[in-house]
Amino acid sequence: MNAEPRLVEVRKNVLKQNDVTARALRGRFRDAGVLAVSLVSSPGSGKTAFLEKTLTLLYSRYRVAALVGDLATENDAARLARSQVPVKQIVTGTVCHLDAAMVQHALEGWDLNTLDILFIENVGNLVCPSSYDLGEDLRLVLLSVTEGEDKPLKYPTIFNSADVAVITKIDLAAAVEFDEAAAKRNIQAVRPGMEVFKTSAKTGEGMAEYLEFIERRRVHSRAAAAV
Ligand code: MG
Ligand code: ZN
Repeated sequence: MNAEPRLVEVRKNVLKQNDVTARALRGRFRDAGVLAVSLVSSPGSGKTAFLEKTLTLLYSRYRVAALVGDLATENDAARLARSQVPVKQIVTGTVCHLDAAMVQHALEGWDLNTLDILFIENVGNLVCPSSYDLGEDLRLVLLSVTEGEDKPLKYPTIFNSADVAVITKIDLAAAVEFDEAAAKRNIQAVRPGMEVFKTSAKTGEGMAEYLEFIERRRVHSRAAAAV
């Protein structure tokens, strides 16, 4: 057979099974006309605050819901529940990423036909989430101004697995002397042509542009579903 270490072989099989599950999920989202959007970032980059703002702003016009992954706590779900939308926490225990089976399991009992947009917040981690397709239509990678402009260069794989980059906490940009041009240059070096949004969940700056993009993508995926 082959000389690959057994662990590598097992890991490959796990990833293959994940792709099968992710493909099934993607089909279900498409059939139900749901735009599935996932969020990945380091811990502390403001994912949950960004998601809470997103849900609050979309709530009056769309049927939105969220799944949130976390290692140990349900704090994020409690916080997101303030936005009034259905939220389910996925507590992963020792697993530092979400996989498609966790998403599938969390969706049990939810009628996807009653949703327009589903957000999936991954566990804060810029490494292994890049390997796991969750069946999402759109993956956002978040980068906060407090993290340093070289994050894209350090974690190119996650930036490559994402569709769009979102710079968060721009209200703090001046205080931390964030070099926006350098950050954008690094994103483009890793992923040429990648669309970048600048946002502040605190002041709301940039949220309108980003939400317009999400809405355009939803129209696009609805049109594809109707074909
Ligand atoms: Mg969070
Ligand atoms: Zn992991």
